[in-house]
Amino acid sequence: MTTYVVSREILENNIRQLKKQAGAVPIWAVVKGDGYGLGVLPLAEILSEEGITHFCVTELREAQILRDNNFTEEKILMLRAVSDREEINRLLDLKVILTVGNEETARLIDQIAAERADVAEVHLKIDTGMGRYGFLEEETESVISLYGEVKHLAISGIYTHFNCAFNNEALTRQEFAAFNNVVEAIRAAGYETGTVHCCNSAAFLQYPQMHCDGVRLGSALLGRMPFRTKLHPVGYAVTNIDEIRTLPKGHTTGYSALWTAKKDTRVAIVPVGWYHGFRVSCQPELGRKRDCLRASLSALKQLVRRKNATVEIAGKQCPVIGAIGMLHCAVDVSGVECKRGDPVKLQISPLHVKGMPVVFRA
Ligand SMILES: *Cc1c(COP(=O)(O)O)cnc(C)c1O
Repeated sequence: MTTYVVSREILENNIRQLKKQAGAVPIWAVVKGDGYGLGVLPLAEILSEEGITHFCVTELREAQILRDNNFTEEKILMLRAVSDREEINRLLDLKVILTVGNEETARLIDQIAAERADVAEVHLKIDTGMGRYGFLEEETESVISLYGEVKHLAISGIYTHFNCAFNNEALTRQEFAAFNNVVEAIRAAGYETGTVHCCNSAAFLQYPQMHCDGVRLGSALLGRMPFRTKLHPVGYAVTNIDEIRTLPKGHTTGYSALWTAKKDTRVAIVPVGWYHGFRVSCQPELGRKRDCLRASLSALKQLVRRKNATVEIAGKQCPVIGAIGMLHCAVDVSGVECKRGDPVKLQISPLHVKGMPVVFRA
């Protein structure tokens, strides 16, 4: 049966390593996207066992799951600047820290909190380049005036979210400087900013000088970063060979007949395809000429290096041949000792995995 296996041990090691690297700075574990595919609760429980007490979500549902399952004292930060009245009320019921990224939302939350005879804890969001949610650096004056005006908001933090931390150090430094300008201006006006935070995983791992008072980590927990780290990927899919056959010389496999047997070839049919997330990635938008160029270059590199997809059978990396189907792929198992029913291991990101149960193993 096809399953997605998450190694608790690897996940725990990643968390420990990140905690060590963060030192005294608290990690706000991001469990959005249903815990990056692992499930909010199973991920949060392991994080909690490793001493994590701060969480970030993007859905009411995720906060609800945490509060319903004994995460009563933990801090939960909503990363979206929610503007729906009912959603705000329910988030306040759950004692979730809200994000304020514009004046209207600030006033709305202030008004709702007043109606409830409540005080809403919020973090301010500064937009330093991402262009979604947040006050611009140019709006610093109106940010400062907020501190004096909103009586039912407890502003306990301020943050920004970098858009290019994984690939553009110069831009990230600029954005960090812009963020600091806003923070300094608020302090100069006599207000306390509370928790200052800006790092996602990529920024955290590369720029220790930007750790500030907290770091928001998601993908690093899963050990999947677009650059080399000491972290390890936490999950993989396991399935079984459905069929073993010998395709005669000249025979093809898969849609579009992309592969033709040069000689009689022993082939294993594996019941996992792109539907399950195999070889699916977050493709960059090819909106700009340089993105097209970059994509073409990487395709060219692949062509030269022939870095084909592989799967692991009997401890060996075996090349996938032909086009990967929706639900199947074919694998060249020439010279590999294997039979129908034997286990197959495939690398799939938990973010993309679909159509199989996720199980945690020691
Ligand atoms: C998703 C997200 C993060 C975590 O990003 P990773 O790169 O996965 O660590 C941090 N902050 C915000 C605002 C996010 O939306």
